[in-house]
Amino acid sequence: MAPIPSAHGAPFEVNEPKSGGEKSKKMHSQVVIIGSGPAGHTAAIYLARAELKPVLFEGLMANGFAPGGQLTTTTDVDNFPGFPDGVNGGEMMDKFRAQSERFGTTIITETIAKVDLSQRPFKYWREGEEEDTDFETADTIIIATGASAKRLNLPGEETYWQSGISACAVCDGAVPIFRNKPLAVIGGGDSAAEEATYLTKYGSHVYVLVRKGELRASKIMAKRLTSHPKVTVLWNTVATECQGDGDLLQSLAIKNVKTGETSTLDVNGLFYAIGHEPATALVREQVHTDADGYIVTVPGTAQTSIKGVFAAGDVQDKKYRQAITSAGSGCMAALEAERLISEEEAEDSEIPAEEKHVPSEALTGYL
Ligand code: FAD
Ligand code: NDP
Repeated sequence: MAPIPSAHGAPFEVNEPKSGGEKSKKMHSQVVIIGSGPAGHTAAIYLARAELKPVLFEGLMANGFAPGGQLTTTTDVDNFPGFPDGVNGGEMMDKFRAQSERFGTTIITETIAKVDLSQRPFKYWREGEEEDTDFETADTIIIATGASAKRLNLPGEETYWQSGISACAVCDGAVPIFRNKPLAVIGGGDSAAEEATYLTKYGSHVYVLVRKGELRASKIMAKRLTSHPKVTVLWNTVATECQGDGDLLQSLAIKNVKTGETSTLDVNGLFYAIGHEPATALVREQVHTDADGYIVTVPGTAQTSIKGVFAAGDVQDKKYRQAITSAGSGCMAALEAERLISEEEAEDSEIPAEEKHVPSEALTGYL
């Protein structure tokens, strides 16, 4: 197959794994979903409605998150459609889970420790059951393991995390504690430029702490940032401590790394924009990933570089990283997995595929 140009990585090929692998005697499924954020549960809802009996591994503090994913660490989610009054992040994920279960998803509260994607059916192992013979198998796998924002672990950070400190301006920028208050962003990449510019809508002023004397952000975004009247870039500057009244952040201790000069910056908000870490350790050596470790998919699809393995949510999205975009890509992954399974079932029978393939009721009209 000719290399596919990727939207966010080097060209890659979709490879067909060897077929005819051994099915697990413990459990074999048509589709296994790894991950329990908006992407994983949306995939599960679609697949369960298509009567494919999906199995979803929700993780046991996998990647540092409780089942339900990143939203379990936040309070108000105000930008997910359907909740005009906002919704608590944990409550929203409980609803996602209940909806998955309602249609028959098997949810298993364990972490997947290892996968072998070289042959179909694909093999995987649960944490604590990693002997060669412990494997279970799946015809298709959806990776929805998410990502986590990098943090600096400064003194005081834990005290004020989500009480003035955040890693998502789009998620948290509009909350009252930041309104008309001085705010700070740490980072010098596109995320920092974008987040700082976004925060000018809410804060009285935005300081951007850049540890070097230059920005890594693209020229156009850097220009937009540096020319904004409500933005001051503090070059060669790092934060050394988060300070406040015990409840809310009030200032940062900062240091100029060139001169060694230290000072206090009065800010009521601090937003980290120093990059994210996609949770791809499980598959990094097996599917195509980009330089930052994100799974690369065929543009406009959830297809990874291995036929039968799909990726959805933050694990394959370094640009938007929102609950709604994760849910959307989970839907895509489910529709693509269902389609592949149907096509292969048709191929396996004597009847030509076009006569055999009848989309399930849930998917009629979409494929
Ligand atoms: P995640 O939510 O990251 O979930 C992945 C899940 O998979 C985790 O539970 C993890 O434990 C599990 N997992 C990982 N590895 C394994 C494994 N090997 N086996 C089994 N399970 C595994 N977005 C918005 O749209 N609006 C907001 O207001 C908003 N607020 C946010 C506030 C905070 C504090 C944070 C951190 C993020 C916020 N976001 C918000 C972003 C949003 O949470 C993410 O974009 C979204 O959760 C990504 O969904 P996901 O399905 O890709 O994965
Ligand atoms: P990047 O890795 O590009 O940038 C991270 C920034 O954080 C760098 O300036 C880096 O500094 C700084 N940083 C890292 N660690 C520390 C630290 N410990 N202390 C202080 N500063 C630190 O991440 P982004 O999230 O900005 O971007 C990731 C990818 O997503 C990029 O490819 C980007 O182009 C893309 N993106 C695109 C957007 C768009 O097109 N609209 C929007 C957002 C992201 P240094 O430069 O010194 O290493």
